[in-house]
Amino acid sequence: MDFLLSDQLSATRARVREFVDAHIIPAEAAVFAEDREGRRDTLKALQAKARNEGLWVPHLPPSLGGLGLGPMGMCALFREMGRSPIGAKVFNCDAPDQGNMDLLLMAASPELKERYLGPLVRAEVTSAFCMTEPAPGAGADPTNLRTVAKEVPGGWEISGRKWYSTGARNASFCIVMARTSDDPKTGATMFLVDRKAPGVGDGFRLAQVRLVPARLTHCMRWLGLAERTLELCKKYVTERVSFGKELARHQLIQDFIARNVMGIHAGNLMTLHAAWMLEQGQHREAKPYSSMAKTHVARLLCQVLDDAIQMHGGLGYSDDVPFSRWYRSARAARIADGPDEVHLVTIARDWLLGRLEVLV
Ligand SMILES: Cc1cc2nc3c(=O)[nH]c(=O)nc-3n(C[C@H](O)[C@H](O)[C@H](O)COP(=O)(O)OP(=O)(O)OC[C@H]3O[C@@H](n4cnc5c(N)ncnc54)[C@H](O)[C@@H]3O)c2cc1C
Repeated sequence: MDFLLSDQLSATRARVREFVDAHIIPAEAAVFAEDREGRRDTLKALQAKARNEGLWVPHLPPSLGGLGLGPMGMCALFREMGRSPIGAKVFNCDAPDQGNMDLLLMAASPELKERYLGPLVRAEVTSAFCMTEPAPGAGADPTNLRTVAKEVPGGWEISGRKWYSTGARNASFCIVMARTSDDPKTGATMFLVDRKAPGVGDGFRLAQVRLVPARLTHCMRWLGLAERTLELCKKYVTERVSFGKELARHQLIQDFIARNVMGIHAGNLMTLHAAWMLEQGQHREAKPYSSMAKTHVARLLCQVLDDAIQMHGGLGYSDDVPFSRWYRSARAARIADGPDEVHLVTIARDWLLGRLEVLV
């Protein structure tokens, strides 16, 4: 396994880091404030700048204006972008649009690509992915899918109730999972909703194809945010004096730091390893490894943020620092894209069946 970056990728990573530090982090407050008012001026300006600097949709091929990165290249860049919660949006590779772009690129017909993928790549529109339903419908177990699609003259009629579709309110189209037959394993189709007959077929298989890389890109962004959180902790604990010395010189604080540094390093390695497997074409084998990375990094991010609040004392709990706000969205990481428990079951099952020996 070779995790070394090419000189070109190292240079691009440095440019992304510089861009995030110089332009994105200083604009975070403005972007959040405008978002509350339903405006996007600052975000749009940042997106135009990212595009001009050739850092746009880095996960897509150059023919679509991207950088043609493979999964390992994405690890390097997405982590840098993830240092800001709005970073991925600025470079137009945030969830769910990034996963939806990859899915459309892989599975949509040329007409559907032109109609849906093009505007998404240019950030003229946003999209949503609608799988989850309120109980008793699809959740941790997607085979509970209740939404039904029936062929009717001139098209399809879809009936059902979805919730937790990130970004659906402003999306110009949704990829909707619906049942087209009673077969619990194969009877699902994905529909591009806002047009007549756009079934793209074999919904559960496509959902899995989308989910493994999408999970890994979550890990990359979450690792970036964990790293930034730790950088902010470093500043506080090296300046704040308590009981006669800087916090950083107290061993219990060093324990927080060391555990989180190790956790981030382990998360990086797990993510890189799964990305490397994808680059070798081992998509099926990569699945339990992507589950390990996703579960580890989601828990890690929550822990890093919780520890950051603790290390900052009362300030950590206040809104003068971003940790409690970030924690609220980080906590969802342990539920969305498969809750911890479902991934743990996959990991344990595959290990018990002897399927994880590829690691050694
Ligand atoms: C912020 C956020 C954004 C989301 N975005 C999207 C989106 O864009 N599109 C979309 O389709 N969905 C989205 N989701 C939904 C998400 O994918 C579901 O919440 C997730 O799949 C869990 O389903 P559920 O909420 O129905 O939980 P349930 O299926 O009701 O499960 C509840 C809990 O039961 C436990 N559990 C479940 N199965 C097992 C098991 N086998 N063994 C042990 N314990 C188990 C777990 O602790 C789980 O958290 C989002 C969720 C959140 C929180």
